Amino acid sequence: MTVQGAIWRDQLTAGERATLGRDDGKVADQRPDVLVVGGGIMGVNIAAACHQAGIGNVLLIETGRLGAGATGGATGLLIPEPHQWSDPEPFVDLERASLARWRDLEQSLPGGVGMVQLDWLGLAPHDSGFAAHQPAGVEWLNPGQVSELIPGLARPMEGTLIRRQGRLNPLRALSRIAAGLPAVATGVAATGVTISGDRVIEVSTSAGSISPGTVVFATGQPPLLDGLQIGIPADRVKGHLLVTEPTDVRLPGIVAPLATQIEDGRLLAGGTLDVGDESPAIQQDVIDSIMASLGAVLPELRGIGVAYQWCCFRPHHPDRRPVIDRVPGLSNAWLTSGHFRTGILNAPGTAAVLARWIAAGEPPAELHTWSATRFAER
Ligand SMILES: Cc1cc2nc3c(=O)[nH]c(=O)nc-3n(C[C@H](O)[C@H](O)[C@H](O)COP(=O)(O)OP(=O)(O)OC[C@H]3O[C@@H](n4cnc5c(N)ncnc54)[C@H](O)[C@@H]3O)c2cc1C
Repeated sequence: MTVQGAIWRDQLTAGERATLGRDDGKVADQRPDVLVVGGGIMGVNIAAACHQAGIGNVLLIETGRLGAGATGGATGLLIPEPHQWSDPEPFVDLERASLARWRDLEQSLPGGVGMVQLDWLGLAPHDSGFAAHQPAGVEWLNPGQVSELIPGLARPMEGTLIRRQGRLNPLRALSRIAAGLPAVATGVAATGVTISGDRVIEVSTSAGSISPGTVVFATGQPPLLDGLQIGIPADRVKGHLLVTEPTDVRLPGIVAPLATQIEDGRLLAGGTLDVGDESPAIQQDVIDSIMASLGAVLPELRGIGVAYQWCCFRPHHPDRRPVIDRVPGLSNAWLTSGHFRTGILNAPGTAAVLARWIAAGEPPAELHTWSATRFAER
């Protein structure tokens, strides 16, 4: 029987699950120094970073349960180095800094965040490019070396190996960080803002109004709130994922574009880009095609069962880069949105940037890369 939903929640302890619904409907502080709106991986990390920076009382509100958005359905890969081939330098720098912060959280939080260190192996990269332009830290593997690491491939393949990347259960990480936050209210939606001059003076919510010193919107896509005009183009891109039944096949970490081995020998596969599919429903043909690709590369996987299958939506801006900025025209409101395919990886790094900006007035060096106004300038 295939479960129609992400595996992550089922892997949590009862205590971790309870944290995701912390203080349902209860706003403990109507006048926080910092109000964070949105309880995905971004919002929870931002609230933690602001708390740690000593900015004052921090309150996080989330309309559903923590991790109800893209975070709860993500793959959870923390892989900056493969993005050297696809992403601009400031982006990869943020990803590397963020992976370092995930490692710090793994060490410093009680019980860690559940991060696993893994190697990344890219199979059969396209003919041109990789061999000639190998960035630092990338090892080129010939077909013999690849087949030693992955016996049973349908055909010989070259590969690239990058060591010391990571993976986590996004809900476990979220829950572990949220457990240390001073004030969280789930089941509370922000609905509007009141602005006076260049300041947000009130945020209306489903549990009454809140008067924050500073507000940070971490709502996945830019927030849609009465009284707030944020003209940033944004949409969302659906993706499907699945987890197989346990198998004897052993993968050496994250094998792209094949799968990642998780607990019990199960394989986590997919991460499709289903552009234009706005339906929240799982498309069985997409799941079937993920399974067919697995079997085509590793014949031993043909006929293996699917234990979990799900889909979710990535928040996305047209240039595939996030916004990390002050809300244009406002002095006490910040926004981060559109983290697309790397929001889990980039959450602690983004949170550190915002906490430093709010606490010390220091914007990031590459401000324009993340600016909220870059779309209007084009
Ligand atoms: C199939 C798939 C695979 C992925 N794999 C990876 C991966 O391997 N690695 C990686 O780094 N990233 C991955 N991602 C991307 C990652 O999931 C996202 O970039 C990240 O989760 C975005 O986090 P967020 O906190 O910004 O948004 P969300 O997780 O969407 O959180 C926003 C939260 O704000 C809440 N909210 C919205 N409006 C309001 C309001 N008005 N009041 C109160 N609350 C509100 C929502 O309910 C939601 O919980 C993947 C995504 C998908 C879909």
